[in-house]
Amino acid sequence: MTIPRIGVTGVVRSWDGGERTGVNAAYVRAVIAAGGLPIVLSPLVGVAYAARSLDGLDGLVLTGGEDVDPSLYGTAPSPLLRTTDRARDLFELAAFAAARARALPVLGICRGIQLINVGLGGTLYQDLAAERPGAITHDPDGPRDRRIHGVTLEPESRTSHALGTTALQVNSLHHQGIRDLAPALRATGWADDGLVEAVELPADTDEGWLLAVQWHPEEMPAAGEARATPEPGLFRALVRAAQASRRTPDSMDAEVAERSVG
Ligand code: MN
Repeated sequence: MTIPRIGVTGVVRSWDGGERTGVNAAYVRAVIAAGGLPIVLSPLVGVAYAARSLDGLDGLVLTGGEDVDPSLYGTAPSPLLRTTDRARDLFELAAFAAARARALPVLGICRGIQLINVGLGGTLYQDLAAERPGAITHDPDGPRDRRIHGVTLEPESRTSHALGTTALQVNSLHHQGIRDLAPALRATGWADDGLVEAVELPADTDEGWLLAVQWHPEEMPAAGEARATPEPGLFRALVRAAQASRRTPDSMDAEVAERSVG
């Protein structure tokens, strides 16, 4: 079986004195650990080639990072809005739309769940602490792998099946979150304060495989594991879905090989 190729959306940042493009190593490690071949997609590719950048890919991870530009969901910016990257927003929205058109499985992480919700017509809280008084702290100081709040999962959902549980403690590294859920999405996980922390496209429709969570499974090792060993459940589920929906099946590779020999 050929290893499924999984696109992982990247960032443009300044570090070590230069402008660079890449992605947190934890995402790349998580895809590899789950049996996928990660391909980092730079937003510098731009909207015009966002769809082409998915050629040959079998799945897509929309990763964490900047706040989504609120103009994309019809809201004026709050003073508490943090860094945005409109070029990244537009690249990822175009890549997400192209992935949907191609029925590629999609996994969203943190900003990814927010981008998916906006892409499908939902809205966001720009700052949870200000706009949702009484909410638990979703962006505490501390290590990225610290499990800080509970999440309850819908028993019959892709998310609970992938994780093998209906209740878990998760890390939390976000100050934004889902306000109005996009009509097509189904909420399947909630924080202790009721905030939506997991969404998916219903399995009983033709909408394709999509799962997104507000926490960072790639930074959250399974109990008793070293930090570099991500909790595998959600990434394994993505890789399995990618294998099931491969657009370039192994049989096609084999046919090409046969023809070239014959
Ligand atoms: Mn949270």
